Amino acid sequence: MTPIRTTCPYCGVGCGVLVSRAGDTFSVRGDPEHPANLGRLCSKGAALGETLSLDDRLLHPEIDGRRVTWDAALDSVAQRFQQVIAEHGPDAVAFYVSGQLLTEDYYVANKLMKGFIGSGNIDTNSRLCMSSAVAGHKRAFGSDAVPGCYEDLEIADLIVLTGSNTAWAHPVVYQRIVAAKKARPGMKIVLIDPRRTATAEIADLHLAIKPGADAWLFNGLLNHLRREGDNHGGIDWSYLENHVEGFGAALEEVGGLNIPKVAAHCGLAEADVAEFYRLFTQTPKSVTVFSQGINQSSSGVDKVNSVINVHLATGRVGLPGASPFSITGQPNAMGGREVGGLANQLAAHMDLVPECIERVGRFWNAPNITHRPGLKAVELFDAVRDGRIKAIWIMATNPAVSLPEADRAVAALKQCEFVVVSDNTRHTDTARLAHVLLPAAAWGEKDGTVTNSERRISRQRPFLPLPGEAQPDWWIVNEVARRMGHTQAFVCNSAADIFREHAALSVFENEGRRDFNLAGLTHLDSADYDALEPVQWPVTANGRGTPRLFGQGRYYTGSGKARMIVRPPRGPATPVNASQPFIFNTGRVRDQWHSMSRSGKTARLLSHIDEPYVEMHPADIRRAEVRNGGLARIRNGRGEMLARVVESAEQRPGSVFAPIHWNGQNSAKARVDALVYAVTDEISGQPEFKHTPVAVEPYAATWYGFVMARAPVECTQAGYWTRVRCRACWRHELAGTESECDWPRRLREAFGADGDWIEMKDCGVSRYRAALMRDGRIEMVCFFDRDFAALPPRHWLEGLFEQDRLNDAERSALLMGLPSRDVPDAGRTVCACFGVGENALKQAIRQGVNSVEALGIKLQAGSNCGSCIPELKKLLAAT
Ligand code: SF4
Repeated sequence: MTPIRTTCPYCGVGCGVLVSRAGDTFSVRGDPEHPANLGRLCSKGAALGETLSLDDRLLHPEIDGRRVTWDAALDSVAQRFQQVIAEHGPDAVAFYVSGQLLTEDYYVANKLMKGFIGSGNIDTNSRLCMSSAVAGHKRAFGSDAVPGCYEDLEIADLIVLTGSNTAWAHPVVYQRIVAAKKARPGMKIVLIDPRRTATAEIADLHLAIKPGADAWLFNGLLNHLRREGDNHGGIDWSYLENHVEGFGAALEEVGGLNIPKVAAHCGLAEADVAEFYRLFTQTPKSVTVFSQGINQSSSGVDKVNSVINVHLATGRVGLPGASPFSITGQPNAMGGREVGGLANQLAAHMDLVPECIERVGRFWNAPNITHRPGLKAVELFDAVRDGRIKAIWIMATNPAVSLPEADRAVAALKQCEFVVVSDNTRHTDTARLAHVLLPAAAWGEKDGTVTNSERRISRQRPFLPLPGEAQPDWWIVNEVARRMGHTQAFVCNSAADIFREHAALSVFENEGRRDFNLAGLTHLDSADYDALEPVQWPVTANGRGTPRLFGQGRYYTGSGKARMIVRPPRGPATPVNASQPFIFNTGRVRDQWHSMSRSGKTARLLSHIDEPYVEMHPADIRRAEVRNGGLARIRNGRGEMLARVVESAEQRPGSVFAPIHWNGQNSAKARVDALVYAVTDEISGQPEFKHTPVAVEPYAATWYGFVMARAPVECTQAGYWTRVRCRACWRHELAGTESECDWPRRLREAFGADGDWIEMKDCGVSRYRAALMRDGRIEMVCFFDRDFAALPPRHWLEGLFEQDRLNDAERSALLMGLPSRDVPDAGRTVCACFGVGENALKQAIRQGVNSVEALGIKLQAGSNCGSCIPELKKLLAAT
């Protein structure tokens, strides 16, 4: 087949991919012509071809767990929503949508709720990752627009990365920076992050800032620029006079901040702060990249403005190589912003103000259009919990895992009168709570557009048929809207139809007053839409995109000037205390995406990090009396989780880190957001995911073990369990606090007597090892011990499941727990593309391989997507 050009469904980098088919196998490679990635992919994107199975797909509509027809399901949703609206008014219903939706899906969902149901109660999970950036942009620029583009990262002389583990969360952006620095070694990179993340590998200066202190640092920089003045590359008074308002008050507010004060507030050395200030002051071509570490805060909007302020002060906005640059987490967070997916926005970047409401109402012919904003994500689920919202429709997201105080979200949904979930995955923590399940199209089947972090609209094109009875999200919403009586307004019959309407609204009575403008895309016919090339909005009438905005110093405020806004810095809303002395920080790992429903389908990606963990500084490990490699309970008044302790000197003392991906489907208790306090920024409503006080204590396990089997084993009875997919088996890590481990008996019962059981038992140390062989093939192997450290390595055992027969040496090595010479233990996977393990890398380094390039030549590691290069560098340094 001719390769299909489409877009990666994971992060906001928005890489173009080429999908080719050979028989039943699909291969995915980077699209060399897509401007976002120019052929590059990260490990997640490169493994997309392995995630297309229909395992755990939701394929048919269901009501109360029973399969029904589409007509029955759609009628049920429409009737129940109408009934609630009739009895309790439009604000008694809500949609909670997602940055995974395509722009066309988002557009119709927003139109139905705001235009025709007449409520603002549609909010999106993008609220959780970038709504502070939206509010900060609007305050400063008068519109929610990212001024720059990825090319700026290659031509800048200084890149400041703040609150962003770019190497893991936006790997292709990171690769572009790495390549640029290699080509121009004089380029400087400053990383501002409490943790020394993988991104630090390319940083010339790492500021391990005290969590939450970013506004002090940037406000101090603003004052420093003022003191340096025009002559030394500092403040650009002429730019301020002509293009910025509010700078007098702003500069007065920061007037008392000198380097010693900033250093004290930020927990940094004065020399490091001074060096950062010197670099920024003296480097006109500077880009400040900010992400969740800035946004996910109870003062996130003020932090965003503190970053934008230093760019306004120097006139470095929308110029080649000079801009503030928000990079978004999700593939279509930006598309959602464009169509009004947030409760406080209308469509096409219009606000919920009378003039815009009237205009959009006329365009949609929607006399019932809402006149006020709806509830933001956290408030929305509070309203579900207290019964103000009686019917909710959740699309393509998993709030039972991802909302702060996630147990409260679960309780809210449990007692909600009517919960609809449209998704493509059958078993999620949220789908379990639905009355109606609607099967939605997945990546590879979807047809529409997404917008990446640099405002670039790209096509997601289908290359697979819709499986079972799955349908696109826009189709599902349209059908419900029609059944609710809105037959004239929901007439679009294709994604292309919807896109044309979306583009038409962007130009409707625009006259240059709104930034979001798709003038050149309003008349695309279906063939043009199919062939649409990636383009950055605004798109002029002749179809040209716009790489940069605001370069002329004109903004979308009433005066045409940007606004400089400084508020006194505030610390996190919930400080640590004696009983919860650690700061809990959450984030992503390199090879997983959100709650793993797609990335967890490939063993290759799970082999990098395969268990929920909490990363702690060695001093904190001693303080909490936990053990590296042991299990810890992390808890506070909101919830608790269990996780493996990983020691890391790169963690800031007092802060602990846990990844966001594990959930109730693959682990006993690893939903990090169960612990995160539902405190939000008062303007953006974005929760403070980066700063939650917790206690950490040992999980007092009396036994540990693991089971590997060809199919998943029911293990939810164990106090601690995780389940991961390996190449040819499933692995379950288990632990418990009972005086006696009864898993040997359970496994005997579960697997029966069919086959050869090989067993080894040592009651004195509670050791039990067993393997079940059938026709010479291994079916199951399990190891239990009182001591976790006595359990054998796992990776070589996984390899045995790939063999049709074990030889005698392998059989006898099996219960010894020792890899045979034929099947060495490669260790934890570092390079996911070529499956290169840590042990193999260490051995090569010990044999004299001394560079990343040489590891690539010898073992291929790091020679494809490059996502593992920071870890290779660390191994080279440490081995
Ligand atoms: Fe996908 Fe990786 Fe590109 Fe993000 S960086 S869009 S996850 S390939």
